[in-house]
Amino acid sequence: MAFKTDIEIAREAQKKPIQEIGQKLGIEPADLVPYGHDKAKVSADFIARQAGNKDGKLILVTAINPTPAGEGKTTTTVGLGDGLNAIGKKAAICIREASLGPCFGMKGGAAGGGYAQVVPMEEMNLHFTGDFHAITSAHNLLSAMIDNHIYWGNDLQIDSRRVVWRRVMDMNDRALRDIVTSLGGVANGFPSQAGFDITVASEVMAILCLATDLEDLQERLGNIIVAYTRDRKPVTCRDIKADGAMTVLLKDAMQPNLVQTLENNPAFVHGGPFANIAHGCNSVVATRTALKLADYVVTEAGFGADLGAEKFMDIKCRKAGIAPSAVVIVATIRAMKMNGGVLKQDLGAENIDAVNKGCANLGRHIENIKKFGVPAVVAINHFAGDTDAEVDAVRDYVKSLGSEAILCKHWADGSKGIEDLARRVVEIAESGEADFKTLYPDDMPLFKKIETIAQKIYRADEVLADKKIRDQLKQWEEAGYGHLPICMAKTQYSFTTDPNRRGAPDGHSVPIREVRLSAGAGFIVAICGEIMTMPGLPRVPSSESIRLNDQGLIEGLF
Ligand code: ADP
Ligand code: MG
Repeated sequence: MAFKTDIEIAREAQKKPIQEIGQKLGIEPADLVPYGHDKAKVSADFIARQAGNKDGKLILVTAINPTPAGEGKTTTTVGLGDGLNAIGKKAAICIREASLGPCFGMKGGAAGGGYAQVVPMEEMNLHFTGDFHAITSAHNLLSAMIDNHIYWGNDLQIDSRRVVWRRVMDMNDRALRDIVTSLGGVANGFPSQAGFDITVASEVMAILCLATDLEDLQERLGNIIVAYTRDRKPVTCRDIKADGAMTVLLKDAMQPNLVQTLENNPAFVHGGPFANIAHGCNSVVATRTALKLADYVVTEAGFGADLGAEKFMDIKCRKAGIAPSAVVIVATIRAMKMNGGVLKQDLGAENIDAVNKGCANLGRHIENIKKFGVPAVVAINHFAGDTDAEVDAVRDYVKSLGSEAILCKHWADGSKGIEDLARRVVEIAESGEADFKTLYPDDMPLFKKIETIAQKIYRADEVLADKKIRDQLKQWEEAGYGHLPICMAKTQYSFTTDPNRRGAPDGHSVPIREVRLSAGAGFIVAICGEIMTMPGLPRVPSSESIRLNDQGLIEGLF
């Protein structure tokens, strides 16, 4: 049987005008800022007026360690939102916006898949409401103002070799990773080494996603450290006087975007920070707004639960004062098999042994989620080739851990394929079982925080770090940054720092190669291994096959 592609299914969507979607959450048309017929921003005024509302229940969707077989977190987030609405609950979805870079590089959309998608998916994967362009502009305004400050006499005595603020662009372009700027003579400034990151790696993106309102946004932008003087004193964005103008550029982008699912349920799509050097989930403004308007809010965290869920809890929830009532861990039979040692080309054959073996990875994530005081349920995202015996093997394993796995067929069947999970999630959320706590307190020393994550979540024996790194952390503690949470930048494919070690390894060590202070976003990034902040295009980029057809419709986008 041939399946329709995601874009073919999305094109058949019976979309409702965005005003009708807003009404479902009690948003009057006047409080929406429409971008065409099927997208709108929710006005900042309206959001401010909802502050007194009671919060709904927050449901986090996360997953086992990703494998090339694909897990379907976004697909399950969207499906569960539709499933909750289908069983009569007032539910909304919150997910990230898409970056243009991966869109033209490797296939794989950001709007879900099959019959669990957010529409308009083409626009969501392309320019959407321009938020990322605004972030790019705000970021690069600061870059320009730093160079301009140096050009006109450098009153702040910035050491031009120690400018740490790079430039950004929302495209995969390896040619821009390391460049020289200001060539061409006196009128063009002082030649210096520079480089570009992709927009989603910008600290401005992380800030937009963690800020609670425009005032907080400007405060955080002002705190960004952009450079150091010769005697190593930090120079901030506020010193450069860029925070005000950047806030102006970001004013509209701060308002969350409302769109709809294929089943016409409300979905907030807002912000999209990297999941390695940043925290990897949609904006605090979107999640908080959704909680004020819906009884259930389903949201997603990037990568596997060891990175995504940990940062969701320890960074986003801690900062925003929100807490999940239940966690859904997405697992697939295919990924279980890959974790059990099966190669991608052999995934088609039934292999109960491999499923059993691969379950250890899932089990580890279930245990970890419980450390945050939140009950977890497993969603088995059903793929066409999965056999009943394989599904039963996962169910039995999860049951043996005192948890529950529920088979979900939302990709093929939409909401009716995921009603069982929706009912169970409601039961858990209403049981009051959740007693959320972060993994570590604010006042724990920074290095101890890294050790806590490595030992409790990754099950490592030790964290390895040079004296230079430990001294740097101590220096930040003395400078008043000791209360910040840690943002781990590690491979998403393994609990360890080695992407090839699947399953549930222990006894390993976690080497910290570098630490970075994101003073505006408000976290300290601990980098283990190579982290790419400007991706390149693959040998055959998907942009080679993207085009408009005779009817003016987009072809080749997923
Ligand atoms: P994640 O959010 O975990 O990165 P997505 O939900 O974006 O994953 O899904 C990745 C891709 O896998 C999408 O193209 C989606 O259509 C596909 N996919 C998801 N679930 C299924 C399924 N059950 N069967 C077939 N394809 C699926
Ligand atoms: Mg996703």
